[in-house]
Amino acid sequence: MYCPFCSATDTKVIDSRLVSDGHQVRRRRECLACHERYTTFESAELVMPRIIKRDGSREPFNEDKMRNGLLRALEKRPVGTEEMELSINKLKSQLRATGEREVSSEMLGTIIMKQLKSLDKVAYIRFASVYRSFEDIKEFGEEIARLGDDD
Ligand SMILES: [Zn+2]
Repeated sequence: MYCPFCSATDTKVIDSRLVSDGHQVRRRRECLACHERYTTFESAELVMPRIIKRDGSREPFNEDKMRNGLLRALEKRPVGTEEMELSINKLKSQLRATGEREVSSEMLGTIIMKQLKSLDKVAYIRFASVYRSFEDIKEFGEEIARLGDDD
């Protein structure tokens, strides 16, 4: 965005934090041309990072897609809708809190897996098996073994 003092476009973010319960990001910026500082507020929807897919293409973050993935993993599991929605909100907050404009699908998957792990272990295994595919089945086996250790 343009510097409000000199209209230069190069700015540096010097501080970034979530405000109003995570629904906005407040950024403190410094203009690289005139060195004036100013604050911007970005609403949650705008700062949701885009997703970098494995083939390098980008797509907007799709909440419905994430919800469908979670629903599939949680099918017939003892997790209520409210609990799931709460998890979705947490996931979105975590994504926003990265402060990144773009996040790899790999990172998104990791964030979802962490959340599922604390929500329901069966759902976590289901999601991980779909998400990680069977290329790294050894790693997947180790993951299951680690789950056992947690109990
Ligand atoms: Zn300036």
